[in-house]
Amino acid sequence: MNEQFRQALSVIETLKRHGHEAYFVGGAVRDYLLQRPIGDIDIATSAHPQEVMAIFPRTVPVGIAHGTVMVIERGISYEVTTFRKEGRYEDYRRPKDVTFVRSLNEDLQRRDFTMNAIAMNEYGEIIDPFGGVEALKQRIIETVGDAAERFNEDALRMMRALRFVSQLGFSLSPKTKQAIIQYGHLLQHIAVERIAVEFEKLLLGPFVSKAIALLVETNLFAYLPELATKKEELIKLSSYSLVPVDRIEAWARFAFVVHFHREQLKNWKLSNHLIRDILICLKALEHIRSLTDWTIDALYEYGPYIPHIERIRAAVYDDKPSVHSLLKQWEMLPIRNRKELAINGHDLLILLRKKGGPWLSEMIENIERAVLHRQVENEKEKLKEWAMCNQKRENNC
Ligand code: ATP
Ligand code: MG
Repeated sequence: MNEQFRQALSVIETLKRHGHEAYFVGGAVRDYLLQRPIGDIDIATSAHPQEVMAIFPRTVPVGIAHGTVMVIERGISYEVTTFRKEGRYEDYRRPKDVTFVRSLNEDLQRRDFTMNAIAMNEYGEIIDPFGGVEALKQRIIETVGDAAERFNEDALRMMRALRFVSQLGFSLSPKTKQAIIQYGHLLQHIAVERIAVEFEKLLLGPFVSKAIALLVETNLFAYLPELATKKEELIKLSSYSLVPVDRIEAWARFAFVVHFHREQLKNWKLSNHLIRDILICLKALEHIRSLTDWTIDALYEYGPYIPHIERIRAAVYDDKPSVHSLLKQWEMLPIRNRKELAINGHDLLILLRKKGGPWLSEMIENIERAVLHRQVENEKEKLKEWAMCNQKRENNC
């Protein structure tokens, strides 16, 4: 057992002292067995949420209806979820109601894939009723029970299967793959926001190319928002070898390759903030195709986005990214934004004794360009001089 699990042991031990069963479950156990860094630790228990809340001093009822209580121990939070099976599934979505059960096995049975249905007790012993460990060995993603049935219960699981392909590089079992081909259309019943969460993880996985190729092969892409007509573009996307480093880069590269604009991004229900970042990258990528397109003006305009844009450019045009040297060039510019100008609008109004108007922003823009291109130094007196002279020129004197 590693340090993270050892720290979490007290939660299991406390539950057991109070007469309940408790196990580590889900992604943390899977990733631990794969010797990958583990994320949040989830605990499954026979205790009901009210019991969990009564036992631990610091808890947050994050999802009582689904049996989940967050327990905070020594500053670390753990999701403690009561053993449960899910109620009736309606419309191919996860059920609204759940039933608490008293056995671990039943809880593991409602989980999506065998590799995610492995539990570990306080001694580090593995409880694996569905052959999850073998699936990890074989590097295979396989549903717990009948794939067709499981995807009919909750169609999001098909997207989850492909995001795990992207994160782990595993293959789909033949039956799981076949069921995705057959029931992909059920994805249309799933809220776009939930699809987008899984899709973003897919875009960021080290095996994103493999996952995108599978999206095409299984035809699942046809049921993703705005993608039904984008098969060729997705095939192209699957040919890139560089893996995006963050969500802006991931979405912007995807959007650039499949020709998404604001409308399509909105239909993916992405946040306005993220859409703004993506659109800035897209605007840059329209004209920056080779390293020499990084002019002084381009460096200045896209400064903080240089790493994103440059890595996407390199991936798309099969080039080597020059992020470091471009950032250096950006840092060496006389100014990196308007606020760094040694003169401001107020100074100009006083200096030129004129009323404010459209001329002012035009003049500031001119000064900005002149400083950027080193036609004048960024010093107040020099800029004043330059402004006076510039004004005279405009007045034709
Ligand atoms: P990650 O490391 O990305 O968090 P994870 O496997 O922990 O991966 P979560 O979405 O955090 O994924 O879900 C935790 C666990 O809950 C899963 O391992 C799985 O056992 C179960 N699970 C999650 N979503 C579903 C679902 N739609 N259907 C069935 N079981 C699910
Ligand atoms: Mg998790």
